[in-house]
Amino acid sequence: MAEIKLSDSRDLTRIERIGAHSHIRGLGLDSSLEPRSVSDGMVGQLPARKAAGLLLHMIKSSNVSGRAVLLAGQPGTGKTAIAMGMAKSLGADTPFASLSASELFSLDISKTEALTQAFRRAIGVRIKEEAEVIEGEVVEVQVDRPATAGVAAKTGKLTLKTTEMETVYELGGKMIEALGKAKVQSGDVIAIDKVSGKVTKLGRSFSRSRDYDAVGSQTRFVQCPDGELQKRKEVVHCVTLHEIDVINSRTQGFLALFTGDTGEIRSEVREQIDTKVAEWREEGKAEIVPGVLFIDEVHMLDIECFSFLNRALENEMAPILVVATNRGITTIRGTNYKSPHGIPIDLLDRLLIITTQPYSEHEIRQIIDIRCQEEDVEMAEEAKLLLTKIGVDTSLRYAIHIITASALACQKRKGKIVESEDIRRVYELFLDVKRSTQYLMEYQSQYMFSETEDADEEAN
Ligand code: ATP
Repeated sequence: MAEIKLSDSRDLTRIERIGAHSHIRGLGLDSSLEPRSVSDGMVGQLPARKAAGLLLHMIKSSNVSGRAVLLAGQPGTGKTAIAMGMAKSLGADTPFASLSASELFSLDISKTEALTQAFRRAIGVRIKEEAEVIEGEVVEVQVDRPATAGVAAKTGKLTLKTTEMETVYELGGKMIEALGKAKVQSGDVIAIDKVSGKVTKLGRSFSRSRDYDAVGSQTRFVQCPDGELQKRKEVVHCVTLHEIDVINSRTQGFLALFTGDTGEIRSEVREQIDTKVAEWREEGKAEIVPGVLFIDEVHMLDIECFSFLNRALENEMAPILVVATNRGITTIRGTNYKSPHGIPIDLLDRLLIITTQPYSEHEIRQIIDIRCQEEDVEMAEEAKLLLTKIGVDTSLRYAIHIITASALACQKRKGKIVESEDIRRVYELFLDVKRSTQYLMEYQSQYMFSETEDADEEAN
């Protein structure tokens, strides 16, 4: 690895689908960190949200590292929702990585490698660089087909920032390409694809007809302004340690970030990167931004993973670790010992514990209202009351799931507003856990391998 590469990393634009937590936009706190009763898609759970907010405040204001928090509470009491709220409030520059503990057992890389990658995805590096800049009025070159006279018009400001790592093009203040490496000089003509934003350097020997044919009608051509590459401007890159690892460890570079197929990363690569980042920090070129690593279903980790976490938290670059579980006293995976939440006592002792409480009827109703809005489902008042009652009797999750299904039932009968009859219909079609268990108890003799207590006793 001759030189640490950074330029290949870029943000991915995800297609947003309505997910279980897509209504959560933050923790819903006011400026003095007091939780509002309903805000940012969050309802109730005030003490837990306040505690999570304080933690975020600590992360943002003092760059603390190596703290760990446990969100403990019954199923469906909003532990994941609170973690999501934290992620949303952190802002784009602070990394948030999340995984479910059971994922570690289904990967083709070792558990500790997967955990190391997760930790490094949650550690940001903010790198500052001096850039050489040309700024000036951009001359847009009009190109028609057939190539007739080109009309030059001044259309805005073009900035080219050239650093050791990349050349950034901004047109009218908007970044048009962050990955271009071609060094462009004043007077060069560049072609910008209107759809992808991809920039091609055409240089000075620009020929309207030839280059138009080469790049097509979706392209605008601009001529770089006259000027010298001399003004200096500070450019800040925010990447995670994991992104730097991946880019430097694979021949396909950043493509592995898209596929997620990063494989095991050699420890020498990580050591080199850590040394380089430490150098940058000493030179004042970079700072570490500890983010948040969220591990859901933490009771699914085994004793090796727990020891790994204990050690990883001692690292001065460690992110804030947030873990969640709905288990009580249970066996620590990989041992015969029982412990609260299935977490070894030495790790538990390091954790600040935040508990979540079951929701009141009123809170369930408010969450249902928010979900109906999020899913664009219009529901009659009476139907909402019924759904709230179902939520109280079964679970909040079951009630939330029924919203989409009852909207489909309503569509099927060509209705516009979901009524109680739609809710009832879906309620009969899909069992909740309580009814399913009851059904099993009644009919278990007809299932395969059913072992009743009576049968066990008979066998004895
Ligand atoms: P489990 O222990 O089963 O993993 P959990 O405590 O993580 O459960 P969530 O998945 O966060 O529970 O909550 C279930 C559903 O209810 C999610 O869709 C979540 O977004 C929503 N929800 C939970 N609490 C709140 C809340 N306080 N405000 C708004 N929505 C919430």
